[in-house]
Amino acid sequence: MKKHNFSAGPSILPQEVLLKSSEAIMDFNGSGLSLIEISHRSKDFVEVIEKARSLALELLGLEGKGYTALFLQGGASMQFLMTAYNLLEKKAGYLNTGTWSEKAIKEAKMFGEIVEVGSSKDENFNYIPKGYSVPEDLDYLHVTSNNTIFGTQMKKFPTTNVPLICDMSSDIFSRQMDFSQFDLIYAGAQKNMGPAGTTLVVVKDDVLGKVSRKIPSMLDYQVHISKDSMFNTPPVFAVYTSMLTLEWLKNLGGIAAIEEINEKKARLIYSEIDLNPVFKGFAKTEDRSIMNATFNLANDKLKDTFDAQCKEAGINGINGHRSVGGYRASMYNALSLESVGVLVDIMSEMERKG
Ligand SMILES: *Cc1c(COP(=O)(O)O)cnc(C)c1O
Repeated sequence: MKKHNFSAGPSILPQEVLLKSSEAIMDFNGSGLSLIEISHRSKDFVEVIEKARSLALELLGLEGKGYTALFLQGGASMQFLMTAYNLLEKKAGYLNTGTWSEKAIKEAKMFGEIVEVGSSKDENFNYIPKGYSVPEDLDYLHVTSNNTIFGTQMKKFPTTNVPLICDMSSDIFSRQMDFSQFDLIYAGAQKNMGPAGTTLVVVKDDVLGKVSRKIPSMLDYQVHISKDSMFNTPPVFAVYTSMLTLEWLKNLGGIAAIEEINEKKARLIYSEIDLNPVFKGFAKTEDRSIMNATFNLANDKLKDTFDAQCKEAGINGINGHRSVGGYRASMYNALSLESVGVLVDIMSEMERKG
């Protein structure tokens, strides 16, 4: 049966990407060897990582603008500390929009003073703080563009003179924006780009080299940049599959094209949530995410019925995160409008049946 994969992460990838990457496991480029058993320094693999790096910059519109794309390891969680290690000398600002921001704050506190410029903890992170001010003397400001767990998304970013760092793990390549407003962007691959095991880091070269501490090589962005993202053996399968997804996105028409589809999916589910009394949305309307829609049943007694219907229709991965409860439909780039339609039909059926 066809599955409709709403998993929050690791999450759905395009079928053609899965097909090509599984072929490469058996026979890479007709070489008679597997992608995962050849040297990462072979010409064939160097071409892959170079292509992945340049596609990332191209899709973000950052080519020739002083940025470098790296494929690192350790997940977005490693970036929580690497960003601070490399950029925090005295004081940094963090916008606290949920679990992932809090984890980033926790790591950064080991390197300097942290100012929470705003927080939505008072309402269990169901909104994005607004109207906060950003001190001028920060080494950087860190924000999380999309809060995967709570289903909120920043629609606007603060204009500030301090470097802006953004955790885009769960909405990178999903919507258009001026990516040059950021000095460093990072995203674990497994939400919208590829398998777990690699993290895309896009960093503006001129923000680096300003802290006085010594940085271990593996944690030093400048080392990775100087080695073309090959300081040590890269996670070859994760990089290759990410490259295939980026190619898929480019062929589709890039971020502009996917954004249109993502908007349609989001409109479809949110209009159902808004109009159907059986469900209520979790995130404040103006801040809700086009990637992760969080909602609850108005009456928990209907849980078994709803869950059974979803299961029968092949819907996977819509249980909410434990800190929110209820449901979360993650609608990453590779999820079709049709899959959202299947879920929405079940939701409206729930209302019709009473
Ligand atoms: C999933 C996620 C993370 C954590 O990613 P790991 O790769 O597991 O470390 C961090 N930030 C956001 C916004 C996420 O969605």
